[in-house]
Amino acid sequence: MTILEVKIKGSLHSPPLHHTLYTMTEFLHKFACFDCQVAFKRRAIEDASSRSAHQSDSNIIHKCPNCAHRMAFMGRNFAAPSKADSSAWEAAKRLWEAGFRFVGSGYHSDPALPKSKSGISEFIDNNPAHKQKVGKQRRWADYA
Ligand SMILES: [Zn+2]
Repeated sequence: MTILEVKIKGSLHSPPLHHTLYTMTEFLHKFACFDCQVAFKRRAIEDASSRSAHQSDSNIIHKCPNCAHRMAFMGRNFAAPSKADSSAWEAAKRLWEAGFRFVGSGYHSDPALPKSKSGISEFIDNNPAHKQKVGKQRRWADYA
């Protein structure tokens, strides 16, 4: 047996090293503040067993650490635009207000969510039954 084989065999029989860390990471979702144009990973649900890849909202309220506005639940797959990219943040806000979330496996035939505000209204109008439109319509300004 080579040293490499011993290492592989050994790792198969010992508990996964980062098991606890991995489990915690899996339950973190992205929350955004559209005013500050920042996003953070936070827990979304108290009971991890009820999680779903298509979860549309959080039952835990997270406030923006910068301005204290309630942060919007974006879903697990939201990739925060850079702070300077106001067009991308405007697109994310419009999508969120229309009920779109960055959820699911990504394996569907519906068009990808736009990353800039140009054409965003048309996208929302043209995709009323999009697979990622799983949330309620809300207004950011009234969200608390
Ligand atoms: Zn904020």
